[in-house]
Amino acid sequence: AAAASLALALTACGQNSEGGSEEDEKGAKGATIGIAMPTKSSERWIADGNNVVKDLESKGYKTKLVYGEDDPDQQVSQVENLITQGVKALIIAAIDNKSLNNVLQQAEEAGIPVISYDRLILGTENVDYYASFDNEKVGELQGTYIVEKLGLKDGGEKGPFNIELFAGSNDDNNTRYFFQGAMNVLKPYIDKKQLVVRSKQTELNQVTTLRWDGGTAQKRMDDILTSAYRSERVDAVLSPYDGISIGILSSLKSDGYGAKNKPLPVVTGQDAEVASVKSIVADEQSMTVYKDTRELAKVASNMVDALLNDKKPEVNDEKTYDNGAKVVPAYLLEPVAVDKENYRETVVDSGYIKESDLK
Ligand code: BGC
Repeated sequence: AAAASLALALTACGQNSEGGSEEDEKGAKGATIGIAMPTKSSERWIADGNNVVKDLESKGYKTKLVYGEDDPDQQVSQVENLITQGVKALIIAAIDNKSLNNVLQQAEEAGIPVISYDRLILGTENVDYYASFDNEKVGELQGTYIVEKLGLKDGGEKGPFNIELFAGSNDDNNTRYFFQGAMNVLKPYIDKKQLVVRSKQTELNQVTTLRWDGGTAQKRMDDILTSAYRSERVDAVLSPYDGISIGILSSLKSDGYGAKNKPLPVVTGQDAEVASVKSIVADEQSMTVYKDTRELAKVASNMVDALLNDKKPEVNDEKTYDNGAKVVPAYLLEPVAVDKENYRETVVDSGYIKESDLK
């Protein structure tokens, strides 16, 4: 009898904690959605967070938005807290692609769907959908810009030109897609020796930049200039992200690049951050890759709204993003290359950046 009543008590308990209040069960509207973003140290993530909040609120949801200060442990405990607070879905831009596995198991047990935002979370089945940009295309745009600017695209025997390669954080799954995309374009020219990497650092594990830190990239560029460019000039630098590009440019400028007889190399970037678009207008950074994060926020919010209303979210890619445990169905947006020629019709006319912010 004791066992039976214990079983009864447990069942009752289970129903309560699973079901929540009557109201919760009826509809998604009014539910709270947890949003975990990686850092406030870069504009894009601040915009992402604000845009996701705005979109979800316009659909009738409440939100809790947290930032992890680029510290994976902090993000794990933030997500844990969101689960404890009873959020009904999670949108997560991971800092480290694997450290969330345990906490996502808790989400699964609590029946909370998870959207991997921009960066794919690896090694767990507990990721329902992925909202991002075509990450390989980002790298292709950067690589293509370099070969076009150096005049290599037209064929012929041009060169050799010196290039250095930078990649993003090794714990961000996007990093290898960006690098792969860029190398798809650059590698044939490196093989033909029309592009030369004087530092000899060409493998992904030699060129990553922990947590996408501009200062770290600046330091690495300083070291490369000192060790491999005593009598040579750098003609191009593959940079995956605007904050890294700004660090690389500081290093180059302190080495005398940018003076009349020592032009700055072609330097790529990503995110169309204000400082970098300004730098592009000032003829320093050459290009950036614009990813309209307002659109990404919409995709993620629509996914949540569909899931909480028992509908299937819209996806346009069900084969690319294998996270090691499953292929995560994805909706991928298109990135756009931006330079001094087209920055107005892309980032300014779309209202992404105000012309007055570029003054
Ligand atoms: C994002 C990029 C961003 C980088 C650094 C990547 O995961 O896709 O847009 O530049 O993180 O924040």
